[in-house]
Amino acid sequence: MRLALIERPYSIQPTKERGRLMTRAAREERKSRVIEVLNKARAMELHAIGQYMNQHYGLDDMDFGELAAQMKLIAIDEMRHAEKFAERVKELGGEPVTLAASAVETGQEMEVIFAFDTELEDDGIAAYNEFRTECEDCGDSVSVKLFDDIINDEQAHFNYFDSVDAHIKKLGAAYLAQKAGTSSATGLNTQGFVARRSGGAPV
Ligand code: FE
Ligand code: FE
Repeated sequence: MRLALIERPYSIQPTKERGRLMTRAAREERKSRVIEVLNKARAMELHAIGQYMNQHYGLDDMDFGELAAQMKLIAIDEMRHAEKFAERVKELGGEPVTLAASAVETGQEMEVIFAFDTELEDDGIAAYNEFRTECEDCGDSVSVKLFDDIINDEQAHFNYFDSVDAHIKKLGAAYLAQKAGTSSATGLNTQGFVARRSGGAPV
């Protein structure tokens, strides 16, 4: 009986081995397809970070503190997204891209900023849904979950930008007057390398 058990795998090995090799090649192919969409998404995040931080400085300079603060917080969300995509790319054996998908538009006027960002988030949601489908086709449930979580965040960004844009269009100066001179504080006490080394004292 024991002998039969040992011999059996040998008798079916050629077929099994062929199947296993094909599966491995197919699996590698699927991984590279997932890495490609993760990197496309990462490049879009890198663009969003630059774009929103640029708008943050602009809004702060125009003294619309509250709008500047929200913009900074959204940029930080995008930094987290870029990092999460990179971590998953590394997990799959790929190399995270370092270049943004598009150039940052600078010097935008108030009337442009929130309409522009609403469209950016809308485009992002549409693209990420396509990328999610690609991950699903490739059988990568971890990357599907990552896209699900990030699409939820992008929807929250879209809702915020869309509502501010609508207020600016409908209420104009009356709305902006409420935002002028407000604080740009985010309430964050993030510690960088230097602050952490000097015992966590706020800088
Ligand atoms: Fe994002
Ligand atoms: Fe976003």
